[in-house]
Amino acid sequence: MNSKQKISLSLFIVMTVMFLILIVNILMNFREYGLTSVENKAKAIAQTVKHSLTSHMVNGVINNRSLFLDQITKLENIDEIWLSRGESVIEQFGEGHNNEVARDATDEYVLKNGVEQTVVEERIFGKSSYRITIPYIGTSDGEIDCLSCHTTAQHGDTLGAITIAMSVDDIKEVGMKTVGNTIIIALILIIFILFFVNKLVSPFLTLFDSINRVMKKAQSGDYSDRIGKTRGKQSDTVAGWVDGLLEKLQTTLDEIEQKINVFLVHQKQKDQDPLIDVKATVNRLASIYKFRKTIEHDEHINEVYDRLAYILKQKFKLTNFNFIEADTTGKDVKIVYVEKEIHCQAQEGCRADRTNTVVDSCQFNKMCDKFNHDKAEFYICTPYSISNDLDFIVSIVSDTKEEHDRVRMLLPSIQDYIDTAKPEIVSKKLMHMLELTARTDPLTGLYNRKYLEESVKTIVSQAKRTDTAYGVLMVDIDFFKMINDTYGHDVGDVAIKIIAQTLIENTRESDIVVRFGGEEFIVLLYNCDENYVKEVSEKIRLAFAKKEIPAGTSTFCKTISIGASVFPTHTDNFWQCVKFADMALYNAKDTGRNKSVVFSKELVKEGEFDDEY
Ligand code: GH3
Ligand code: MG
Ligand code: MG
Repeated sequence: MNSKQKISLSLFIVMTVMFLILIVNILMNFREYGLTSVENKAKAIAQTVKHSLTSHMVNGVINNRSLFLDQITKLENIDEIWLSRGESVIEQFGEGHNNEVARDATDEYVLKNGVEQTVVEERIFGKSSYRITIPYIGTSDGEIDCLSCHTTAQHGDTLGAITIAMSVDDIKEVGMKTVGNTIIIALILIIFILFFVNKLVSPFLTLFDSINRVMKKAQSGDYSDRIGKTRGKQSDTVAGWVDGLLEKLQTTLDEIEQKINVFLVHQKQKDQDPLIDVKATVNRLASIYKFRKTIEHDEHINEVYDRLAYILKQKFKLTNFNFIEADTTGKDVKIVYVEKEIHCQAQEGCRADRTNTVVDSCQFNKMCDKFNHDKAEFYICTPYSISNDLDFIVSIVSDTKEEHDRVRMLLPSIQDYIDTAKPEIVSKKLMHMLELTARTDPLTGLYNRKYLEESVKTIVSQAKRTDTAYGVLMVDIDFFKMINDTYGHDVGDVAIKIIAQTLIENTRESDIVVRFGGEEFIVLLYNCDENYVKEVSEKIRLAFAKKEIPAGTSTFCKTISIGASVFPTHTDNFWQCVKFADMALYNAKDTGRNKSVVFSKELVKEGEFDDEY
């Protein structure tokens, strides 16, 4: 039921109740008035009859009373008049020829008690009547001495009673007519009032109902409904405002959504309310923008990965994930960030990278053979193409199926961040490669002198902080010039590559091998003493001596000389220590070559390096 129907019904009920009260009031008043007027009339007639009969008695013509009573009976609305004699009168004069005795209980009561009685009989459908019985009390002290004739009666006795029965049907008829007319007038009035109220209020009620409908929809996110016309000038104006506002809201929201979603490749699942959608999208954008601005100013790729990890932890509440870098050939795969633990042997080949599709543990039993299935059951690895040469894989492990499903839902949002980070990852990678190239020797792939010069500060501070000693080896091929001269420069290059390889093969990962220049190398041995320095030097020397250097169809072998020192044991000046190693090398060359010499203060010529020794 709409508001219009509700108001009309309420108005109708109120008016009907009002008119019913009015009609009941009219009926009551009418009845009272009718009964009062009948009563007055009856009383007047009864008194008249009483006095007339007294006159008849006084004049001695009481026997002719029938004529008189018949005449009275003929009066309008009088149905019947009868007399009933009291006991004393019957005793003295008998019951009379008209049998004037009490006809009913009312007569008897009046005769007995001398009290006037009225009886009203009302019927809606049928005859209604009014009856009054008035006592005739005998007196001796008035103008007329009743007891002078009624000798058997006492003063105050009820000598008789006069009853008049009157019809009240004419009054009832008038009353009914009045009520009928009132009802008709009331009905017409109700119809008119309803009509006019409807006409006046209808547009506002339509407006109200429409606003109610439109706002209900808007509340649930549907801004497409409009109020339209309400058939009222004022209400149409209001409807126009509301519709205009909704239109503006809808177009603005659509525009905002279209524009900002350009920045987000992956759309979130739409909420029912576009306003909430826009708010959520703006929030996502703001967060992504903040992330982008921050990583723009980061220096190193690892900082970008750290921030990405922070987002995954803080925003997406992930606790166990790895980032994997893979070149597009899939050959060079490495785990570049670990949150909690390493999940797989990605280095041996990453399925997500190779197939370029999401690897989800729910797709198949033991979906990826490189994953450590003993540690976790649920994992999802998503590959993202960063550039032509680089793929980035995010591997996320979950403890429960619910968490795993949640992670799957998060993937589009995570992609937004990775898409945002892409240019930064590419540029930081490039920078890193440039830096690496600048510090790498192209012939051997070893670090170059520039790298050593730049790393010295870190190496020295770390050595001092952790109280670690570094062995410094200076390696030089014996009579290298001869190779160039005999076999040519290319063979010389091959020899340089072979010595580089020998150095790598005979040192640990924590050691640093540097091509210092020409066929001269420096090896920094991490955490070692003089004995170990000597041991490694000899190992290298002997290993190289065994290496066959190809020269056309034949091969030849060469030897090396090594000079060694220990930093900071020999001196806490790093470059001084290099110089000591060089001195030891010079000594090795000077004393026959193909040998390794560890620096000792005896090698220092007198007067040289007095400060240190
Ligand atoms: P020694 O035993 O005293 O060390 O004698 P050596 O002939 O090795 O003398 P030295 O160490 O001074 O020789 C350096 C030579 O190495 C000079 C240069 O022609 C050669 N050389 C330097 N860089 C390269 C290179 O990149 N390739 C080749 N093929 N030769 C190089
Ligand atoms: Mg040499
Ligand atoms: Mg040399």
